[in-house]
Amino acid sequence: MDDMVKSARPHRERAAKKVPHKPTRAEAEAAVATLLAWAGDDPSREGLRDTPARVAKAYQELFAGYAQDPSDVLDTVFEDVGGYGEMVLVKDIPFYSHCEHHIAPFFGHVHIAYYPAGGVFGLSKFGRLVDIYARRLQTQETMTAQILAALDARLHARGAAVMIEAEHMCMSMRGVRKPGATTVTMQFSGPFKSDPAEQARFLSLVRSK
Ligand SMILES: [Zn+2]
Repeated sequence: MDDMVKSARPHRERAAKKVPHKPTRAEAEAAVATLLAWAGDDPSREGLRDTPARVAKAYQELFAGYAQDPSDVLDTVFEDVGGYGEMVLVKDIPFYSHCEHHIAPFFGHVHIAYYPAGGVFGLSKFGRLVDIYARRLQTQETMTAQILAALDARLHARGAAVMIEAEHMCMSMRGVRKPGATTVTMQFSGPFKSDPAEQARFLSLVRSK
C-alpha cells in the first residue's frame, strides 16, 4: 500500500501526458455513435438520434473531476476550534465513480477520519474532495490513496484514515456476475498507520450506527 501512495500522482497530470489532443465535441459524439453501432443498434433510429449528444454532455458532468484540483476545495482551514484535537470522522459520504477498465459504474461510501493539528476543514469539503476523485476514471484502490494523499498534503493533521466500500457494476453485470459483493479498501497515515488500536477505533466507529 505504501507504493500506492508514492505513485498517486494527480490524475490530471497523468491524463494530460497521454492526451495530446483534446477531441472536439463532434468527434466525441461520433465516437459514441460508433459504439452504439458496435453494440448492434442503429444510431440513426429516432430513439438514439440524440444519444451521442446526451452522452457527451453527461461525460462532462460524470468526469468533471479532471478539471478540478483538491486545492480548489481544501482552501480554508478553521483554526478557532477551542483546542479540539480529537478524532474527526465523516462517514457514509456517498459517491458514484466509473472503473477505468470498463467505464462501468462503481459506487458506495467513503469514510474519512483525521486528527486535527492546528485547524479543521469545513465538513462539506470532504464530500467535494471525494467527488473530485470519483468523477474521473478510477480504480477503488487509486481513489483511496489519492484522497488520503490530498488530505495529508493539505490538512494540517497528525494523520488521516480513508476507507471506501463499494459495489462494482463491472463485477455485478459482466465478468464473474456477482451482484452484492462489496469491495473494501483503506489507507492510513500518522497514528492510524502506526497504531493498531487507532485503526481498530476508526473501524469500530465506522461500523457503529
Ligand atoms: Zn471494471
